[in-house]
Amino acid sequence: MAGGGGASPSCAAVAGWTVTAVLLQVVGLSMFLYGFFPVKPTLPGFSGAESYRMPSCGLAGGGEQPALPPDQLRSLYRELSEVPPVYDRLVLMVIDGLPAEFVLGRVGKPPSKEMVESMPYTQSLLAGCKATGYHAKAAPPTVTMPRLKAMVSGAIGGFLDVAFNFNTQAFLDDNLLDQLHMIGYKLVMLGDETWIKLFPKLFWRQDGVSSFYVKDTVEVDFNVSRHLESEFAAKDWNMLILHYLGLDHVGHIGGRQSVLMPQKLKEMDDVIRRVHNAVSGLEDNLDRTLLVVVSDHGMTEGGNHGGSSYEETDSLALFIGHSVQSSYCSPYDQNEALQVDLAPTLSLLFGTPIPKNNIGVVLPEVFNSLTDQQKLRTLELNSLQFLRLLQAQLPAFCFEDCINSKYGLGIDKIPQSVEKKLCHLLSKAFDSHHPSHLHQTSNVKSIEAGCNRTAVNAYYEFLRYASEWLSHRATNKPFYLLVSAISLMIVSCLSLMGIVSCLLKGKSLSQFEHHSEWNSDYHWHLDEVFIIMGIFLYVSSLGSSSFVEEEQYTWHYLTSTLYLIFLIKTTQSMLRESNSAVARAEGKIFHGNDCSYFTSCKLIPSMRDGYKLCTIIIILVSGRILRAWHQGGVNWVHFPDISKSLAQADSFVVKALQIISVLAVVVLYSVSLLLLRPRKLNILLVWLSHFFCGILVVLHIWQSQINTSLPTKHSTTSIAQIFYVIASISLTFTFVASPWIFPIHSMEAEPTSSGSSPKTAIHLQGINHSMFLIGITYAAFWCLLQLLLQQPINAIPLLLIFLQIISSIMHFSLDKSLHKKWVQIVAMQLLGLSGHFGLGNTNNLASIDVAGAFIGISSYSTVLSGILMFMITYGSPLLLYLGMVFYISVINSDDISTPHQSKWSCILDKMITLPCLLPLLINSIALTSYTIVLLLMRNHLFVWSVFSPKYLYVCAATVCTCAGVFIIAVTAVYTCTVFSFRMRNYKDKSYN
Ligand SMILES: [Zn+2]
Ligand SMILES: [Zn+2]
Repeated sequence: MAGGGGASPSCAAVAGWTVTAVLLQVVGLSMFLYGFFPVKPTLPGFSGAESYRMPSCGLAGGGEQPALPPDQLRSLYRELSEVPPVYDRLVLMVIDGLPAEFVLGRVGKPPSKEMVESMPYTQSLLAGCKATGYHAKAAPPTVTMPRLKAMVSGAIGGFLDVAFNFNTQAFLDDNLLDQLHMIGYKLVMLGDETWIKLFPKLFWRQDGVSSFYVKDTVEVDFNVSRHLESEFAAKDWNMLILHYLGLDHVGHIGGRQSVLMPQKLKEMDDVIRRVHNAVSGLEDNLDRTLLVVVSDHGMTEGGNHGGSSYEETDSLALFIGHSVQSSYCSPYDQNEALQVDLAPTLSLLFGTPIPKNNIGVVLPEVFNSLTDQQKLRTLELNSLQFLRLLQAQLPAFCFEDCINSKYGLGIDKIPQSVEKKLCHLLSKAFDSHHPSHLHQTSNVKSIEAGCNRTAVNAYYEFLRYASEWLSHRATNKPFYLLVSAISLMIVSCLSLMGIVSCLLKGKSLSQFEHHSEWNSDYHWHLDEVFIIMGIFLYVSSLGSSSFVEEEQYTWHYLTSTLYLIFLIKTTQSMLRESNSAVARAEGKIFHGNDCSYFTSCKLIPSMRDGYKLCTIIIILVSGRILRAWHQGGVNWVHFPDISKSLAQADSFVVKALQIISVLAVVVLYSVSLLLLRPRKLNILLVWLSHFFCGILVVLHIWQSQINTSLPTKHSTTSIAQIFYVIASISLTFTFVASPWIFPIHSMEAEPTSSGSSPKTAIHLQGINHSMFLIGITYAAFWCLLQLLLQQPINAIPLLLIFLQIISSIMHFSLDKSLHKKWVQIVAMQLLGLSGHFGLGNTNNLASIDVAGAFIGISSYSTVLSGILMFMITYGSPLLLYLGMVFYISVINSDDISTPHQSKWSCILDKMITLPCLLPLLINSIALTSYTIVLLLMRNHLFVWSVFSPKYLYVCAATVCTCAGVFIIAVTAVYTCTVFSFRMRNYKDKSYN
């Protein structure tokens, strides 16, 4: 960023300090991210034969075994485990996004009648006790890739897995699929290609479908089902993975209540019926097949997922096979399990070692066909695997020492420390499992039966406690690293504050010198006090999880109150002016100088006052509508609001609103262009391209279907692509050409009353004209892009935000002395932030609009859809930064026309220093204080569900601020450079 100081600090110093401060902030932020979200320590390698023995103390990892051929390995495992494999074939059917509630009901109640009727076959299996279903609680973040990893490895990944979800890479930890592969099983995968990315070389046969075209709900599933016949005829596989994405896509488009949902459930039920019938056909004496139907996560009422609400984490695990059948069952009991429990259960059912990092516990109801001793052995194997993991996490923990000292501990007292408690529970379990250690001779059946029950309970007590401890264990955070990262950020924040206060002081002093007659009151005004207070209020609200969840109320309150204060100030100044006729006459003379675009010089004061009031009222009314558009952030989503009632309405109404918004944006842009005095052909060209882009957006709206099952049409994709091309060409053209088309001197120039030399005034007018054109073009094209990408429901809110920004700039340009410049910039930034929430964004990852990120992309690209997703989420703040370019051009006209400031660097400084520094400062305050809050809350219950997602948003907002400031700075620097170059040429020519 470039800047320069006319008054107190020198240009280079300001620029240097700002860049240093921003760099410090980036370094601090990266250090904090590295320290706070560590990759969880995992045991390397794969479980082998050693996992069937008691681990020895001190050695965490087992020694390397010689690699055996698959057949020998399989019989070795069978021999060591003492539990015969229950099944030979596994069909793992993943229904993406299916909430367990749809199949199993909620809190012990059966699912709704509609749901039961949608899945008749599955419900008949449950009612006939041929299937066992679990509410398998998924850990946040509830997005597909981390959940698949959890299912096959039994381990919960780090929080940052969500960031890598769009860039999946091969999974290297110990897991069920690799274990099955090692004992010679052949695996076939049909469906979501995430599996192929996780296991690139594992599958015998595969047919992946991309999960990224969210609008497609039919093709994705058809591509899986079409292989079913041939797979069941071939019979050459041992594990068949079917991953159906359609239901998740139905949710993303229409939510849980979508009209497509019952139809989709029927389709899934039909697949279950087909698979089950085919599997029963396969079964002979030696060939036994297990069908497991699972979902990776649930979905919210609106069909999104990512967070940790009950609706999102309530995933399904349904086992259908001979070992789960029983004579009695109650299928709608709230059968609770964890998603990770799937890994050890399947491992033991198929005779492979449990994956090393597993924290899941075997599910008892699935082993009904085993004898009691075999069941106990499964629990023992699970415990042995936990013991290895515990020894890796707690180096001092040793079970042998435990046994030796247990009589000293006293077996009935529950010890306090974790190690001792684990020791106590485990030795209790082993003792009741192997009573022969104590009573060598007693071998009576009746004693054994009683012992079995106590042993099972003791094992589960240990397993559940250890599992919970392992999953909740706060990972060791490098505290010094975090503290030094935060101190870097504080230093950066303080230096930004220092620069801004230095500049404000310098500015007010110079103003004091020049205009002592009207700026002599150096008090704090109400609006300035309110802003400082508001920032304090915001920072203190960050400490409360409820305020973080419902942050939109804070911003709506701050924005509307600030503009209400502006309204009061405007009315007061109007009253003051009308009271004294003399003041009005003076005002007329004084205002005679500043001709801005909205106010031609001929405006009479009463009309000017009328405009001033109107603009503020427009902002306040739009703000109120915006607030009512999306109610409730995370917890109060069910609140009635305009967006929900529109979603119920006819899709034609929504389309009409979208088209009205497009037309309004085009009209607003045309009117602003008409205000530009020298009307050149180039401007007409830009207007034409904008008009054409508007037509493209209308076409796109017309063609895209809401809530239908039709796959994305190719015509809409190409319309969006044409839009991208035309918009980027015309934006580049405007940016490059506009500093060249406006004259550096003109015949209209007259010496003005404030005494500035004509030449200076003229080239400043040229700069302002060119900044005006660039700024309004940026903003108008950005609005069209957002209308193309955002959800249809957000069209009107977008228009309202655009209207608010334009009205706000108009208001500030009508009376430049009423509010201080820094107050104006902060007010604009508040508009951008409340608009961010007005577009339905929350601090929950689930509200990110995934569907829009694929508009106009014909082949899958992580980078492109990532950028689009960022643009959709930060549409409002970025619109504000683009509007800031426009604001600079309107506000500057009188500010820089004093003769002694004809140096280019000083003009540049006046133009962009405050508009760049203030957003950076405010963002830095928010970032730094929230980082401190996160460090303090690191052991809070909500740290992963509320505070960490918000931190990702804060980081993204930092990126957004830097990008916005960069655009402002580059535009201004380029425009000034071109003008200074042209000016020098002009002077050289006139001297020669
Ligand atoms: Zn998913
Ligand atoms: Zn999804």
